Amino acid sequence: MSKYIATRAMRGANALVTEAELMLNKALKEKGAETPVSFPNTAYYLPTILGMTGKAVEKLGDLQPVLKYARDLLHPIPAFSKWTPYLGETLDSGMATLLAAEAIEAIRFVYGLQPEPMPGFKLAGGTSFTSPDAKEGDNGDGHLNGPIDDIQLRSWGIQLVDGRMPGFAAIVGCAKSNEVAVKIVRELQRRNILCFLSGNVNGRSIIHQLMEEGVELGYDTYTVPFGTDTISAIYALGFATRSALTFGGLKPGQSREILLYNKERVFAFVLALGEVDDLKYAAAAGAINFGFPVIADTVIPEILPTGVTTYEHVVSMPFNQIEGKDDLERAERLVQKCIEVRGVKVKVSNVDVPVPYGSAFEGEVVRKADLRVEFGGKHSRAFEYLYMAKLDEVTDGKIEVIGPDFSQIPAQGSMDLGIVIKVAGRQMQQDFEPVLERQVHYFVNGASGIQHVGQRDIAWIRISNAAADKGFNLEHFGKILHARFHEDFGAIVDKVEVTIVTDPALHAEWLEKARAAYDYRNKRLADLTDDKVDEFYSCTLCQSFAPNHVCVVSPERLGLCGAYNWLDCKASYNINPTGPNQPIKLGKQLDDRKGYWQGTNDYAKIGSHGVVQEVSMYSIMENPMTACGCFECIVMLIPEANGVMVVSREDTSMTPAGMTFSTLAGIAGGGLQTPGVMGVGKYYLISPKFISADGGFKRVVWMSSVLKQTMNDEFKAVCEREGDPDLLDKIADERNVTTVDELLAWLEAHNHPAMAMEPMF
Ligand code: SF4
Ligand code: ZN
Repeated sequence: MSKYIATRAMRGANALVTEAELMLNKALKEKGAETPVSFPNTAYYLPTILGMTGKAVEKLGDLQPVLKYARDLLHPIPAFSKWTPYLGETLDSGMATLLAAEAIEAIRFVYGLQPEPMPGFKLAGGTSFTSPDAKEGDNGDGHLNGPIDDIQLRSWGIQLVDGRMPGFAAIVGCAKSNEVAVKIVRELQRRNILCFLSGNVNGRSIIHQLMEEGVELGYDTYTVPFGTDTISAIYALGFATRSALTFGGLKPGQSREILLYNKERVFAFVLALGEVDDLKYAAAAGAINFGFPVIADTVIPEILPTGVTTYEHVVSMPFNQIEGKDDLERAERLVQKCIEVRGVKVKVSNVDVPVPYGSAFEGEVVRKADLRVEFGGKHSRAFEYLYMAKLDEVTDGKIEVIGPDFSQIPAQGSMDLGIVIKVAGRQMQQDFEPVLERQVHYFVNGASGIQHVGQRDIAWIRISNAAADKGFNLEHFGKILHARFHEDFGAIVDKVEVTIVTDPALHAEWLEKARAAYDYRNKRLADLTDDKVDEFYSCTLCQSFAPNHVCVVSPERLGLCGAYNWLDCKASYNINPTGPNQPIKLGKQLDDRKGYWQGTNDYAKIGSHGVVQEVSMYSIMENPMTACGCFECIVMLIPEANGVMVVSREDTSMTPAGMTFSTLAGIAGGGLQTPGVMGVGKYYLISPKFISADGGFKRVVWMSSVLKQTMNDEFKAVCEREGDPDLLDKIADERNVTTVDELLAWLEAHNHPAMAMEPMF
């Protein structure tokens, strides 16, 4: 049967390549060959073209050879009667389709037609969680998402590695009804599978359907509306290509390796909803190149033999023939089938609450207008406190609410809340208390309609009207925490008891106890220095993307993603002794200034599979630590300034190095040692061991203003510690300095200490 698909795919590919050629010729005439083309905020040019052909397209003229290549991949259209047992021609047509589609999108950007306008549409997104209300009116108003930027690519990278996100679904077309559209997306969200949305059937897209049903679309909710035509589905493959380049350490042009990487590591599939036309067949053939199977909810010929994809290539599952008592059940089965076909590994938490539950709901915002009640924030106080007790002092599963519930609180009102968690376990240690307590944020946020911000005694929790209407109450916080601590930390926690406190006297009493514990922990952390321990920890979580990268995590240097400090790694090792965090026995110290130990060097060799021979813990200039791509900041030498700049992931502006964060990230990542360039977690910046071998914090001559603002108190303390209380004001940022010349003038004018320090190299 595949000859039918072959024919239609080839016909679709021919048509699209022709369309791209016509568009390009027109654009060349109207705009000229030198007109720049690019997708926003990416260092990967047009990523599919870059990955597959090695060509970095920078201007319209560069697209000519690309389309010539696409044209050469096309084969004469076989007659329907001719048997084509081999997928080769179909795959080639698919590749030609992808190249043409990306070229078309790029030309649309030149004409300002991308991202696609969508009146009244608002993207759910943004990075600031400081105030739930501040997000209203965020960017993204009035148009769809278009391609995914590099920042988001990297932040999802870490979730893909730690398994929070199993893979992605490229959904193309329009579901049978709005109800089915919502159900499909909810089923995928529940499993934390990323949903990329594009395409239409007779002008109606799943994007319209979801918008009409009020589903929040955007990065925060794992649903990305690319565009309402099939061509915009190319962004899914651009994302896949960049994953291989960013996390797999592959080079542009290594097309075979990139496709294999995706087949083996990126759990993605295409879900074609509604009628499949020639173009969709052609695009599907493109996806099959990546090893992504295509599941259609209509009658289409199947390609079942496995080979290029891990499982079936094309599966037809006509919606009306799916067994089920109603359409919702059919939608659920359809999603189930997609997951089976691709072999996506999913983990669903069984949490007994009356609202949907899963990490895909973590980013949800509860806006003032949707608010039933809040705890913490401006008008009340909420805290959470986890402590360990003896096994016989904890009653597992006991959940108690002491004090009134929120039924008496008026709409949008607030009240005091304390969440007190008592755990016990044979492997539990007091050091793990803060590690476990921090999980409350993720666990509570997993409930749809609940928003959690902050931690300790600055927690801030909101319950939406929708969740309250479904019967979500205070006891459910306990249910969530009990279930999730057992599920995720079963190796160290045997018993979990939760008390929810709203009674004013008891609230005050527990708050005092909690604060005493926070103080104690702060002191313990401050005392925990590299020279007080005899083991560091490795983290190889990112090796599923960056096969040779290892983070060496010490008490004074956390992992570069910012998510794992020494205590986290220690806890993780106890939870999973054969897992990604292993103790590194330090052994003989070889150099205390640069931070070399026999143990860390030995480990670096093994962990990096021989790519790295030695690693310095405290220097950026000599054998610096490698980076995978998840770093919160990039530190980079500015030789002219005799110092370093620190660029935050959130900063999209130009830096004195002549590159933006995105471009720099391409240099810093990939698991290689690059003297003068390092990816770091932002809390490493305030560590006394921050590039201490090279002069420490005084070497910072430029820093993204977002860091200065968000970590102001911490940096002030560092400046005091370094004996230069005004140092922070002497450090330039993007608001006043974006070139080396400006930087030098600034340093001169502000008498920055780096000017007088010994040469860095
Ligand atoms: Fe990846 Fe390093 Fe973070 Fe571990 S600590 S998850 S290896 S970036
Ligand atoms: Zn990483």
